[in-house]
Amino acid sequence: MEIMKNIVLIAHDNRKEDLLEWVLYNKGTLAKHRLSATGTTGKLVHERAELPVHRFISGPLGGDQQIGAKIVDDGIDFMVFFWDPLTAQPHDPDVKALLRIAVLYNIPMACNRASADFLISSPLMEKEYNRQLVDYGSRLTVKH
Ligand code: PGA
Repeated sequence: MEIMKNIVLIAHDNRKEDLLEWVLYNKGTLAKHRLSATGTTGKLVHERAELPVHRFISGPLGGDQQIGAKIVDDGIDFMVFFWDPLTAQPHDPDVKALLRIAVLYNIPMACNRASADFLISSPLMEKEYNRQLVDYGSRLTVKH
């Protein structure tokens, strides 16, 4: 991945304020990268932090799936996903699928504030980085 990273931001409703606080605190750093987000999260980031954000569809309407597809297409380098550990989501299968795809494609991912702080302050944020992909192919043999 290049120095300018494709960062995606997602927050469930009860976590949006927490994410916005984090975005505002890190606005200077985030401004150096390309941001995208699920619909409502992106709208809030744009309005409150005045940062340019590409907006996918809202999470429950398919935004998580769009982001998962973007990861497969090598269009996301870094994900901050503040999911809600206390509330069931109507799109829980999509959330699970996105987390799975992010792990499969070795995407740096922060799901809480402390992890996000550690990731964004990593020296690797300022460098190119070769994200290694595990070859899972051998485990996908078809049995007849
Ligand atoms: P939202 O989606 O930013 O559109 O609220 C977040 C989510 O629930 O995945």
